Amino acid sequence: MTESMLIDPSARPSGPGCVGCLASGGWWLHLRRCAACGHVGCCNSSPSQHARRHAAETGHTVVASFEPGEIWFYDFDTDGFLDGPELEPPHHHPLDQPVPGPAGRVPSDWIRRLH
Ligand SMILES: [Zn+2]
Ligand SMILES: [Zn+2]
Repeated sequence: MTESMLIDPSARPSGPGCVGCLASGGWWLHLRRCAACGHVGCCNSSPSQHARRHAAETGHTVVASFEPGEIWFYDFDTDGFLDGPELEPPHHHPLDQPVPGPAGRVPSDWIRRLH
């Protein structure tokens, strides 16, 4: 895919949390936003690595951070960071959402469960 297909600035985030974790009852450390379609998934340190899985399944290999204060893009295909345009807000998950999240689903020994 060309970069213009991998980054669609008009695609809005799918929601405040990882789509896959919310569906399965899981939890995440940090969140990533698919730059092509807005799918919110969890990072490579999270137990389920849903952002990477979404990239593998769809070919949408570029993600943006969905964490407060972080502005960067990363390409799973090249394993490299890249610059990108400003995306549609919101640019991060709600500030009252805990890290790791979501509230109530994070096990007490979560640090030992990271990748
Ligand atoms: Zn997830
Ligand atoms: Zn996508």
